[in-house]
Amino acid sequence: MIDVSGALKNAGAMYPFSQDIFIEPCEVFGETLSFEDARITGGCFGADEAVSIEARLSVNVHAHCARCLEPVVYPMDIEVKADYRRSGSEDCFTFTGHEIDPVPAAFECLLTELPMRFLCSEDCKGLCPVCGKSRNKSLCTCLEGAVKPSPFSVLKSLAVYQTNEEV
Ligand SMILES: [Zn+2]
Ligand SMILES: [Zn+2]
Repeated sequence: MIDVSGALKNAGAMYPFSQDIFIEPCEVFGETLSFEDARITGGCFGADEAVSIEARLSVNVHAHCARCLEPVVYPMDIEVKADYRRSGSEDCFTFTGHEIDPVPAAFECLLTELPMRFLCSEDCKGLCPVCGKSRNKSLCTCLEGAVKPSPFSVLKSLAVYQTNEEV
C-alpha cells in the first residue's frame, strides 16, 4: 500500500514512492504466467479526494517458450498511470483512508503490455514434430529426407492444372 496522506493534503505536490509488490499468477492466452521481483517506482499527487500515480513497474515474467516450451524469464519495464478516487466511485480505482493499493493498476497496465507469446530466443528451433525433442539441444534426424515443396514445384503444378483446364 502507498501512503497518500501527504498528496491529499498538498494538492499538486508530487510524493515519490518505491515499493515491492506481489502480483498473483494469472492465465493469459491459455498460459499461466507468474511474476517475480515486481517493483513499482514513481510518484503520487492529489487534489481534493482524488489521487493519481505515475510510475514504472519492473517485473520478471515467468512464462514458457511458444516453440520449445522451455521456461522463459522475460523482464519488463512499463509505465503505470492510474487515477484513484474515494471508494464508491465508478470507472476508476478506489481507495479508503489514506492508502492506495498500486497492484490492481500495475496489473492492468501489465496485461496490456504483455507480448502475445514468449520465445526463449528469436531463432529458437522449436520441437521436432516427429519425436517431440527440442531441436535447440540436439538435432534429431527425423526430418532428414523430408523434402519441402519448393515454390517452383507449386508453380509447376499450377501450370499443369491450367493447361488441363484449357483442354
Ligand atoms: Zn524456445
Ligand atoms: Zn525428431
